[in-house]
This record gives sequence, C-alpha cells and structure tokens, in this order.
Amino acid sequence: MTNAEEKILNYIGGEWRESSASEYLDVVNPATAEVLGRVPLSPPEEVEQAAQAAAEAFVEWRRVPPVDRVQYLFKLKDLLEQHFDDLARTITMECGKTLDEARGEMRRVVENVGVACGIPTLMQGYNLEDIARGIDEFMIRQPVGIGAVIAPFNFPAMIPFWFMPYAIACGNTYIVKPSEKVPLTMQKIFRLIEQTGLPKGVVNLVNGARETVDAILDHPDIRAISFVGSTPVAKYIYSRSAANGKRVQCQGGAKNPILILPDADMEMTTRIVADSAFGSAGQRCLAASLAVTVGEAGETFTEAIAEAARSRRVGYGLDPGVEMGPVITPQSKARIEALIEKGIEEGAEIVVDGRNPVIPGYERGNFIRPTVLWDVPPEGEIARTEIFGPVLGLMHVETIEDAIELVNSGRYGNMACLFTSSGAAARKFRYEAQAGNIGINIGVAAPMAFFPFSGWRESFFGDLHGQGKDAVEFFTQKKVVIERWLGEWSRKF
Ligand code: NAD
Repeated sequence: MTNAEEKILNYIGGEWRESSASEYLDVVNPATAEVLGRVPLSPPEEVEQAAQAAAEAFVEWRRVPPVDRVQYLFKLKDLLEQHFDDLARTITMECGKTLDEARGEMRRVVENVGVACGIPTLMQGYNLEDIARGIDEFMIRQPVGIGAVIAPFNFPAMIPFWFMPYAIACGNTYIVKPSEKVPLTMQKIFRLIEQTGLPKGVVNLVNGARETVDAILDHPDIRAISFVGSTPVAKYIYSRSAANGKRVQCQGGAKNPILILPDADMEMTTRIVADSAFGSAGQRCLAASLAVTVGEAGETFTEAIAEAARSRRVGYGLDPGVEMGPVITPQSKARIEALIEKGIEEGAEIVVDGRNPVIPGYERGNFIRPTVLWDVPPEGEIARTEIFGPVLGLMHVETIEDAIELVNSGRYGNMACLFTSSGAAARKFRYEAQAGNIGINIGVAAPMAFFPFSGWRESFFGDLHGQGKDAVEFFTQKKVVIERWLGEWSRKF
C-alpha cells in the first residue's frame, strides 16, 4: 500500500511519471485519519502530454481488429479477479465503505469488462442491399478518437469502468481522471492494465482536480467526456464541453424516494430500505433518501426502520461484522450534520440521532451513525437537498397518487422505488414515476453492466448513458456509406 511519503503518479504514454504539480493533497483514510499517500493536482501540461500520447496511440489502435482489442480486456478481467480482494481492501481504505460493499463494487468492474468483451458483436452496424437498383447502403461504426472520464469519490473503481472498457474496445484511446479524494485504487488498476501489454498511450491516468479537469474540457483533441459527480459540477462540465464541441454525458446528484404501500412485506421492506439508506454510509447516488409511507404503512414502517437504524453496526470497513463505515471527509460530516440540524429546525422530528458518535478505536474517523427524521416537510431544504450521508427522511401520505406526486415534485430523477405486493400499483408507479432507474421491491436499482445506467432530470445531462449499448453508441460515430459498382455482370442495372 502507498504510504504517507509516497507520491501518487500519473501514467502517460505507457510510463509512470511523477507530476510536476506545485500542489499535492493528502489522501486520508476516512475511518482512521491515517494519510495513505499524496495526490498531485496535475497542471494542464500533463493533460496535454496525456492527450498527445492518446492521439499517437489512436492512429494504430483503431486499426487493431475488435477481436484482437478485446483480448487485452480478457487479460484484464483475469488480473482483476486475481487481485480482487486487494483492490477491494484499497477501496475500503481510501473511501470508507465496508469490505463487502467494496467487493460488490469490484464485481461491477469485472462485469463491465466482461460486457465490453462483446464489442465484436456490439459494435456492428447494419446495411441494406439495393436501396436503389444496384446500390447498397451501410452504416458502420468508427471510434470517436480520445475520450476522458472525470470520476467521483464514492466508487473509485467502478465508475471509470462504466466507460473506459467500452471506449477502448471500440478503438478509442482514453484518459482517466480519478477523484482526488480516492486516487489509490486506480493506481493499482493501472498497474494491472500495464501487465496486459496494452499498447502505450491507449489508456492514460492523470490525477488532479479542477484545473486538471478544465484542461481536459478545453483540449481540442479530446472528443468525448464522461462525468459522474454532483449536479452543479455536472452542469458546468456539460455546458463547457458542449461549448467546446465535444460529445458529453454527465451523471449528477440524486434525492431518491422510496414509496411503501400498506400491502408491502414489511420485514423485507425494512431490511432493504435500511441497506439502501445506510449502506455505503448513504454515499451512493442510488441511496434511499426519502421514504414515503402510504396509509397504514406509516406506523409499522417507522418503528421498524428506527430499530434497523439503531442496530446497524458502524465502524471501520475492514473490521469483521461492520455494516457501515464513515463518510468521506470531516467537511462532509459537518455538512451532513448541519443538514440534520436544518431538518429539525424545519419541523422534522428526529427519531434516531446519529450525530457525533464515538466509535471506539476510531475517534478520529468521520463517523455519523444512521439517522432517521420523521415528518419531513415536503417544501423544506432537507426534503429537496441531496444529503449524501446516512440520513433517511420519512414522509406520510394517504394515497399512491399523492406519493407519486411527491416523487415527481423533486428536481432529481436518478432512482425511485416502490414496495408493494400489487402488480397494478407497481405498473402505475413504473409508468408514472419521473426517474431513470426504477426499483419494484428493490432498494438499490443499480442497472447491470449490459443495461444503461440511467438518470433523468437534474440527475443526468446528455443523451446516452454509461454501460452496455449506450456506451457503444457514445464511443462510436456512425458513418453511412452508399455504394454502386459498375461492371460487366451488373450492366443490367
Ligand atoms: P464532485 O462533483 O465534487 O466531484 C466529481 C469530480 O469532479 C471529481 O473528479 C472532481 O475532481 C471534479 N470536480 C469537482 N469540482 C469541480 C469543478 N468545480 N470543476 C471541475 N471539476 C470539478 O462529486 P463527488 O463529491 O466526488 O461525488 C459525489 C456526487 O456524485 C454526489 O452528488 C453523487 O450523487 C454523485 N454521483 C452520481 C452518480 C450517478 O450515477 N448519477 C454516481 C455516483 C456519484
């Protein structure tokens, strides 16, 4: 593992390079406060070097047949499996989630590589003979050029893999800019990529923050930008990339509602909603943030979820039996605790108060225990703001129509879930809810790698999503060819 003295490196043109950055930030274990390494805020010149390396590599890489390109991904898949547990531990150490949660994240990494291995089929175009007599028309897909991902802190391994494997399998070359809060996992993954023998410059790693990102957005040779992070930054990146003529997809923040009907299986619902709200300390874009009970569901669910919140085992994610880790930074903890206070001021009742807990042995960690607020006013800040912490707000309404109206009144549209045993209610919800990922008796409706990771309204800016066929569309441009061949045998045309 990287230690406090060790500088995190960039990987450009197949070489590990120390950044010339004038500023470095500490990478801190959020449970122990131990410094794990130092990350450079790479200057624009290093983005330039990465773009140049990617541009040089592109000339040859796009000519490598798709069946040969995916051989590197098959090798990477094997290496990821071999180093699975070490990578999961690194995720836990720098990001705070439990080891089981980190393993779940790694599973999704491997799954995305697996799907991208199908590029020889997925990247095919289509054609029609005789669009007019003797004339044929083809649609073929070609790579876009150089792509880049700008990633958030909460899934250090998975999120770049919603994009990168598809990008390179389609013949593009690529730049990864990890979150400056969690750069260690990508250091390790790039060591594995290096072992696959992938030609130099096909993938590049540039660490940094805002200035590094701006250099990516403004670089004329980088043609496709994928961003995942908070909504204000998503909007900024979307508009700046578009103004620079790039294709761009930006996944933003969320405020995910879960509806609970009286006919739901309460025991299962409570367990699933608790996992959704408090898993990964609520730092998931698919975390339940508001639970809306309908009719008689109110009383039973409130008691049950309060008990689930109180009994959740909080601690260091590497320790056995721990069910929830810390939040990412002391600033994040302070922000979440201030939002809880705001909710109380707005009139919500605090049923379980997780603020400022003492976790023996980890007194310097950024811990907040699960928190439950009851009767959250729908117009208040707490009901409308992404908290990104282990805080569940409860609301109560009398009908499913009112509940769906509440769902659709929010600004975000990342996920909405319904718990019920009624197929008719489920269909109504699926049909009417304004969100891109829908769960029916599911608490974290995370699409598998062969489906697009959707998101609507303020949770997504763009047209094509990450993963699966959408990723193939995003990382290819269509070329249409119309052909007529004259010759002896075709004279009659
Ligand atoms: P963030 O927006 O602070 O940072 C994301 C990335 O943008 C980082 O790489 C960061 O270096 C860069 N960045 C930050 N500010 C910037 C600026 N002003 N200019 C240019 N670049 C900038 O997000 P975060 O705190 O790392 O991640 C949490 C957020 O991500 C939450 O809002 C969460 O909902 C969202 N998220 C969304 C999804 C999704 O699929 N919709 C998935 C995971 C996380």
